[in-house]
Amino acid sequence: MSHKIRKTDAEWRAQLTPEQYRICRQKGTEPAFTGAYHDCHEPGVYRCACCGAPLFDSKTKFDSGSGWPSFWQPVAAAQVATAEDHNLFMRRTEVLCIDCGAHLGHVFDDGPQPTGLRYCINSAALKLEKTGG
Ligand code: FE
Repeated sequence: MSHKIRKTDAEWRAQLTPEQYRICRQKGTEPAFTGAYHDCHEPGVYRCACCGAPLFDSKTKFDSGSGWPSFWQPVAAAQVATAEDHNLFMRRTEVLCIDCGAHLGHVFDDGPQPTGLRYCINSAALKLEKTGG
């Protein structure tokens, strides 16, 4: 994958909090029910915590009960990339920001209609830009 935003590891470390760095740049996962957005119902656009690209609209957010912010579709299909993830001996599909390569979370096929998808995203990978302010 070739990203339009490329920074060195040291640059990402300097820019991000340790938690953001661990999750976004080292494919980590925040503990369930600990992030800023799993229970957030504010309207707005969730942007990439690393590069600011718009990733998910609050209109597509739903309460999955998983403890992570969950969406049934990205703002645009072209805005996220997916990759096979065989970590933890489970086959999962990783979700990444296409602009900077940030690890966001995973996508599962047990989501609500109209897509049937569940984008299970780490709060630490997101920054909510609230509508109207
Ligand atoms: Fe990004």
